[in-house]
This record gives sequence, structure tokens and C-alpha cells, in this order.
Amino acid sequence: MNGYNNPLIGVPAKALPKHIGIIGAGTIGPDIAYYLKSAIPDLSLVLIDIVEDQLEQALKRIEGYADKGVKRGKLTADQAAGVMQNLATSTDYSMLAECDWVIEAATENLDLKHKIFAQVESIVREDTLITSNTSSIPAAWLFSKLKRQDRCTVTHFFAPAFSNPVVEVIDWDGGSGENLEYLRWLFCATGKVPMVTTDDVCFMLDRIFDNWCNEAAYLIAEASAGEIDSVALDYVHAGPFDVLNFANGNEIIPEVNTLQADEEGEHYRPAPYFRSVKTWNTVPRGKPIEVAPETAQGIRDRLLGIVFSQSVDIVDRSIGTSADLELGCRLAFAFKKGPLKLMRELGKEEVSRILQRLEKERPGMPLPNQDVADYQDFLQYLLIDDVDGIKVITIRRPEALNALDDELNDEILSVIKQYEDDPQVKGFVITGYGNRAFCAGADIGRFPEYLGDAEGAAQYARDSSRLLRHIDGMTKPVVAAVNGMALGGGLELAFRCHSIVAIDNAWLQLPEITLGIVPGIGGMVVPYRRWPEAGQTFHEMLRSGKKLDAQAARKLGIIDELAEDYADLIRRAVEKVDSLQGSVMKIADESVTVPSFDPITSDGQRLSSKVVGIIENAITEAALSPSLEEALEIGYRAFGKSACTAAAKEGIESFQQRRQPDFAKTG
Ligand code: NAD
Repeated sequence: MNGYNNPLIGVPAKALPKHIGIIGAGTIGPDIAYYLKSAIPDLSLVLIDIVEDQLEQALKRIEGYADKGVKRGKLTADQAAGVMQNLATSTDYSMLAECDWVIEAATENLDLKHKIFAQVESIVREDTLITSNTSSIPAAWLFSKLKRQDRCTVTHFFAPAFSNPVVEVIDWDGGSGENLEYLRWLFCATGKVPMVTTDDVCFMLDRIFDNWCNEAAYLIAEASAGEIDSVALDYVHAGPFDVLNFANGNEIIPEVNTLQADEEGEHYRPAPYFRSVKTWNTVPRGKPIEVAPETAQGIRDRLLGIVFSQSVDIVDRSIGTSADLELGCRLAFAFKKGPLKLMRELGKEEVSRILQRLEKERPGMPLPNQDVADYQDFLQYLLIDDVDGIKVITIRRPEALNALDDELNDEILSVIKQYEDDPQVKGFVITGYGNRAFCAGADIGRFPEYLGDAEGAAQYARDSSRLLRHIDGMTKPVVAAVNGMALGGGLELAFRCHSIVAIDNAWLQLPEITLGIVPGIGGMVVPYRRWPEAGQTFHEMLRSGKKLDAQAARKLGIIDELAEDYADLIRRAVEKVDSLQGSVMKIADESVTVPSFDPITSDGQRLSSKVVGIIENAITEAALSPSLEEALEIGYRAFGKSACTAAAKEGIESFQQRRQPDFAKTG
């Protein structure tokens, strides 16, 4: 891979495609079509199949998705109509002639795919991108017979392809680096999470998933599908048989595992049941069944053993990055934690026991090449890029809109500490992955433990400020490149950076009051010391959770520059780091004046008057404090005070129960 780790940093080689063709209207083709039609405005798309009925069914399915999107408020009626416009179906390949990109998603069979690609190459333009959605067949095998191989690669989606964000993009010898970078940009810009892998059979993530499912099918001799799924729920949100039913996976697993067995050894041979079972007899979601302890232990060891074995093999052979492996398993297969993190939590002894058992029961499966502890040496949530001697730190936690948690905070701090004394590094830019969020706040994390415990909650806020206190003392510039929403703890992080640049449709919000709590890590202190003339705006944001859009924040001087798009944002942020060399601002270390409090204009939601009072007192007292440190301390203690209110309990409970809080009863 030649480009940046964050796919949106570079300027794309060309614009988004205008015409796309998808070959294969079976299980996944229509889902890919729906993703593309809803993500790319004005796209014209043609679905090709050899079976008319499949095409009719596909159109109905796509229409159904769009209707559901409207009902759930995810699409407007106009957007739904846009999905169905310029959407054609055909059995005639000549309809592909004008396509900028053709995606093959037909039956998993090499000979068939060879025929399809030969036909496609004879029809499309010289510059048309051609990709395959194969689950397992290397690009080098698929495209070996084509004249122009450089414009081809594999783009491997996961079910359901419209909502599952992961797409593997294969870096293979015959493919051009420019196309690889373009595809990574295109996917990231349209809401996906592209992951680059080598061109080995099964690429990266199907090594985990298919072998996990295959192992589950081998275990059928010892336990029922319901029992196996129930045990797996320890570490995934859905068991292997549940997912196989959902994704129509019974035909694909034997294809994929046969390929892996032929290439890498007999131990990968598929279990015999796949071809004879249509649907597995699973337990209803959320209703796992009791499994006898010894049986449960056997199932757990074998399933985890396979997952760990495949994970260490992926890392040892550099098939993909450790961070992608972790994120891919969480996003694509609903793992509660990535396999490497699971290994860390179980500890070296337990992991070694599980792998020794696997070695005995399933000889031939890969075993670690390194000490088990060495597999933990990577950043889980950050992508680091070097742009003109400046470290661009991208927060990548797409499942939580890049929200901070304790580990993520510590990762940012560790990267800053690693480079801040390096004379080659001029400073840092902090940004968020994707087009939606800079950072949507901080996880509720351990906060519920501190409800009713003022001291504990205040200490939690103090501890969570480690990164921010470090930035306060830095002489090398740190610039926030706000690429979308910046909320709560995410906005408190941006406030501490030495300058904020933002994309022009970004917005800022401190929504804590709507949860009956207060922004405890500087949010009631720092803004007034940096932008005193915007005091009234901060009052409104803090006391009613009111949003501030980037344009307004620019006028108030909170944001220093606005950018048109992501690449422009990073360019401006990097230039800002350059211009701040030797002149990093310090937050006022003396008392400041704040405006008086006007009556609150909330957007309709009733707020806790008690917590509003805590906020007003904290703002006033902190402003009067002669030093920043004392002022921050007032903020931590106010956070502790808010944790002891009935409103905080109600706010946190309502958040966890996904309902509106009722502050009328809490005061
Ligand atoms: P499927 O069997 O459900 O559908 C395949 C479709 O291809 C059928 O509609 C068939 O009529 C059509 N087809 C066959 N020959 C054709 C030809 N010559 N021209 C045009 N259409 C033709 O298969 P699927 O599950 O949708 O999988 C498609 C591809 O995507 C496979 O390579 C599979 O490995 C891969 N894949 C599937 C999933 C999934 O969740 N189903 C996930 C990732 C990758």
C-alpha cells in the first residue's frame, strides 16, 4: 500500500463513479447495489443476472430496503425515490458498456468468474474499474487471463453489504496502486471501512469466520447448533449458525474451506454437513440455552482455539494489520471484542492452554510464531500518518462514531509522548475517521459505578484528563481537524488543542446536560479562558445542550479555519501546525470574567434545574479562580456533585434503556 493509513487524507485521483454495473443479483449483489445507490447521489446502476426472476426479486428487495429506510427515518422520501431512479436490471451484458466500475458478485466458482471477466473486458471502456466480490479466490487467479489486469482487484463485502461497513480491498501484484488508493478513498468517503489485505486465499477476515463456522459444524457431533451458538455468545453477539442462516452461508463455506484445504492443508477441509443442511436449528436471538459445563468448555475451547489460531497466523503472515483484524471482527462478525484483545484479557496461560488443546484435537492448525504477549503490540484505535513532518493521528472507532474511551485516550497520549521530543516531528493533528464524526464524546464507561460517589466521580474526571493536561503543557502544536460532529468529551478534546480547523458542515455540542450530568474535563472552564467574548454562546451550549455549527463557531473565533472537504481540512490543519511553530497559545492562567446568565432557551427538552445550577456555579467559580489548575479542579468536583443527583441516575438509566429521560421527577 502506498497511500496514507487514513484513506481520506490524500486527494482522490478521480471523482465518485457515475455509472456502476453489478453482475449477480443473488444474495449479496442487490445489497451492494442498495449501499451504492443510497451513498452516491445521482448514480446510475445496472444489475445483471442470467436469471430474470432473480432480477425481479432484487428490485423488490431494494425497494423494500428504501421503504424501511424511510419508515426508520434514515432516508427522506426523496432520497428513497432517488434510490429507485436510474436503477436498471438486465440479462444483457452490453448494458455495462458505459460503466466506470463493474463489480462481479456471481456464484463462487473460478471457471464461471473467468468467463464473466472475459465477457466484461470485451465490453467495457479501457479505464473501467473491474472488481470481484469473491469470498476466497485470489485476484491473481481471477484476473490472470485478462489483457488489462492493472484495473482489477477484489473488493470483498460482508453481509448485509448495505449496513456492514467492512470491505476488504486486495493489494495484489497485478493491480495498480493508484486504483487501490482510489477504492480505499471511495469506500471511506461513502461510509465504509476499507481494509487492505494480501492476495492469499480467503484474504483476511473469512479465515476467521469460515473456519469458526466450519469448526462449529465439526462440533455438531458433540452438541446441537443451539448449544454451540449459546456458548459462543460469551464473546459474540450472534453465534455461527445464526449468522450462517442469516447470510445463506452454507454453500459458501464448503467452497472457501475446500480452497483453503487444497492450498494450505487437509486440516481446513469443510465439515460434511454444509451441503445437506439448508437452515440450522438455532435458538431465538437473546434466548441462549443452558449447556452442561463440560460440553460448554469443550465448545468454547475449540471455537476460541480456531479464532486464536487464525488470528496469530494472519498477524505472523502479515495478511492484514492487527488493528484491521480486531476492528473487522467487531464490525463484520459482531464480535464483542477483537480476538487479540480477547487473548490479552484471557492471559498468556489460558491462551496457551486453549491452543495446546487445539493442537491435540485439530493437528495442523497454525500456532503462534511469537510469544503470546507480542501480539498486543499495536494501536487498536488510531491510524498514524506522517504529512510533511507532522503526525496526523486519526481516531478510528467507527462503531461508536469515534467516541473516546480510557484505552483510546491512553493511545493518543502514548503517540504524542513517542514523538514530541523527536526533532523530525513538528507537531500533531488529531482528526476522526470517516465523514461523519470527529468524536461523538466519551463512553459512559465506568461512570455508572460512581453514581452517588462524589469523590470517586471527581477522581474519574481527573484521571480522564491525563491526555488534556498533557496537551496543556506542550510546546509542540496540536491542531484539531474537526471532520464532522464534535460532541461532549470529543469537543473538550478539541477545545484543548492549540487551534481548531473544521470542515464547513461540522457541528459542536456539549450534550451532557441532556443526560443530567456536566462536562467534567474542562468543558465548563477552558472555553471561557480561550474565547471570553463567546461566553454567552458557551452558557447556552452548557446549560441547554444547544448545537453550534461550524460557520457560527468560525465567526466567534472558536474555529480558526473552515475547509471544503477532508483533504482540504488536513492540508489546512498541517499548515496550521507549521504556522504555530514556537508560538503555541497557553490557556489563561488567571481569573476571567463571564457574562451573567440569561433564562435558558432549551429546544423543548425539559432539563434538570438542579444540574443547571451545578453548571452555573461551576462556571462562575472556575472563572474567578486565579489559576487554570484550580479552575479545572472546580470542574472535576462539579462533575462529582452532578454524579450524586437523581437527575444523573435518571439520565444514565434512560440512556442505557434507550428512552427519553424524565427530569420532571428528579428536579
Ligand atoms: P448467490 O448464489 O446467492 O447469487 C449468485 C447470483 O449470480 C445468482 O443470482 C446467479 O443467477 C448469478 N449468476 C450466475 N452466473 C451468472 C452469470 N454468468 N452472469 C450473471 N449472473 C450470474 O451468491 P451470493 O451469496 O450472492 O454470492 C455472490 C458472490 O459474493 C460469491 O462470490 C460469494 O462468495 C461472494 N460473497 C457472498 C457473501 C454473502 O453473504 N452471501 C458475502 C461475501 C462475499
